[in-house]
Amino acid sequence: MMSAEPIDTIVIGGGLHGLSAALHLARAGRRVVVLERSWVGRHASGASAAGVRTLNRHPAEIPISLEAMDMWSNIEAIVGDHCGFHANGQILVAEHPRHVPVLEQRLASTQAAGYRHEELIDRAELLRLVPAISPHCTAALVARQDGAADPHRTLQAFRRSAEAAGVVINEGFGVTAVERCGSDWRVSTGQRDFVAPTIVNAAGAWAGRIAAMIGDDIPLGHKASMMIVTERVAPLLKPVTSVVGRPLSFKQSDQGTLVIGGGLQGRADIDRQKSFVNFAELAKAARAATDLFPSVGTVRIVRTWTGMEAKTDDYLPIVGASPVASGVFHAFGFSGHGFQLVPVVGAILADLIVHGATTRSIERLSADRFLRRRAAE
Ligand SMILES: Cc1cc2nc3c(=O)[nH]c(=O)nc-3n(C[C@H](O)[C@H](O)[C@H](O)COP(=O)(O)OP(=O)(O)OC[C@H]3O[C@@H](n4cnc5c(N)ncnc54)[C@H](O)[C@@H]3O)c2cc1C
Repeated sequence: MMSAEPIDTIVIGGGLHGLSAALHLARAGRRVVVLERSWVGRHASGASAAGVRTLNRHPAEIPISLEAMDMWSNIEAIVGDHCGFHANGQILVAEHPRHVPVLEQRLASTQAAGYRHEELIDRAELLRLVPAISPHCTAALVARQDGAADPHRTLQAFRRSAEAAGVVINEGFGVTAVERCGSDWRVSTGQRDFVAPTIVNAAGAWAGRIAAMIGDDIPLGHKASMMIVTERVAPLLKPVTSVVGRPLSFKQSDQGTLVIGGGLQGRADIDRQKSFVNFAELAKAARAATDLFPSVGTVRIVRTWTGMEAKTDDYLPIVGASPVASGVFHAFGFSGHGFQLVPVVGAILADLIVHGATTRSIERLSADRFLRRRAAE
């Protein structure tokens, strides 16, 4: 059975990137349908630590990340809710003097490129910003405008705004085939087929499979990043804290729980859409947390989880038009740090689809970089 209403764009994947693209397109007047295999936020977007970080970004991402940060500062005007975003800063700590040159070199390179969002601070300022941190810590790099949001609140806000703008979200609609249909694309699901001239591929860990359906053979790895959440404790810290040379991202939620990650990897079973915690590995994050914050040593862990997403060879996402198939636009491979980019990537996709071009800097994010490299092999 085919969809009755005409559609301009089919968005495959109801994570935050699919919702953001759908929202921006609908506000630009496009008729948009989202097809989500499970339910909105089922995978990476619902599992995210939701750090909103410009700090220590890859140089190729800095321009769009800074624009995304402006959008986060204004997120209530964009999606009608504050999304639990607090700009309490993100901090990269040097535990020992031998780690300080890492921070100095990073600062020198971003400043040489003309950026001023990162700042090197000494122990005194670090202790002022994070009084609970162990006094053995020496210095830190800080991005004061950074922070963290609430992933579920963010999902609800993007969903509500997209639907208010006219987006139709179909949950339980897994895409099984994508084929040419004249100058349009026919997208098949178990229930119905959908036809439209443009497609956004925002299928997260499975986006490589959607890309292959339209002829883009993009090599992708997968991540199964792990998280810990503890029982509630009294107010302990405001900035999100990470540390040079160890796997740690440490923050306190609005509810008082400590949310601990740092990119440690569990196991992803992409075919079964399941991922599994590796407790021995995850213990490294718990160890780093108690070394940096000795007072949390007796706090109880309440839950652990993993979330899957696609990873590229250079850890940069793929954002832009398909190099081989006209009318198909990719947004995937965020490699563990796509939450912060959500508002801007949706705007970029709308630029590309509605205007055929964008002034935002995405040259280094093209799928071409992998197809070319393959051709050269
Ligand atoms: C544990 C964890 C912590 C993280 N922490 C941070 C952080 O602190 N800061 C940060 O910036 N980023 C972070 N990230 C990364 C960030 O969450 C992701 O980059 C972002 O959520 C990706 O969103 P997405 O919409 O691309 O993918 P997803 O949310 O995974 O959405 C893709 C959707 O596509 C659907 N789909 C797949 N195949 C099909 C199909 N065939 N048909 C229909 N639908 C399909 C899936 O069901 C899924 O819902 C973290 C990720 C994880 C897992």
